[in-house]
Amino acid sequence: MIAKIPTSKPTVYLTFDDGPGKYTKDIVAILDEHDVKGGFFWIGQNVKTERDSKLARQMLANGHIIGTHTMYHEKLWKKPKDVQIQIIRTSTEYISQKIGAPIYYFRPPYGAVDQNTLLASKETNQILAYWNVDSLDWKYGDKPDLIMNNIAREVKPGSIILMHEKEHTVQLLPKIIKLLKDKGYGIAPLPTPKPAKKA
Ligand SMILES: [Zn+2]
Repeated sequence: MIAKIPTSKPTVYLTFDDGPGKYTKDIVAILDEHDVKGGFFWIGQNVKTERDSKLARQMLANGHIIGTHTMYHEKLWKKPKDVQIQIIRTSTEYISQKIGAPIYYFRPPYGAVDQNTLLASKETNQILAYWNVDSLDWKYGDKPDLIMNNIAREVKPGSIILMHEKEHTVQLLPKIIKLLKDKGYGIAPLPTPKPAKKA
């Protein structure tokens, strides 16, 4: 499980949960315009049409990362390990097939993890992508200053920043990128692991 990425450089990672949805395109457009990359944790049942697949291919080509966030946004903890493995594997296989690319990262809904989640992510070869900065955009939709202050206060080199595909997050995103850049941070995509050798 990772919540930050050890780095000697002042680099941070922007992540967006719960897509794809009506704001995905806008978020990607803003990131592309600022030449920064994002990590997107998609819910399987939201990935439906050829349009989603096409957008995904475009995002991957531009250097963004797509990970999974289960099929139905299910809580994992307290479920038996086999069930957790199944939940991770089903969504990973489904989304991977839809986007035509392998998936390396998994994010647990609600951050609800237990020991079995760690084991399950290992067995499914998924990196469990946690975070160490919660933007609180899910909580403070009407209080953008609190979101900005919270990010400004919590961010450190290597931070993985949790955000969501929400309208107010789209509106704030250029300011968030500027805040991070002004603090001297580079914004990078979650690193793609080298492919494991086939057994
Ligand atoms: Zn979520």
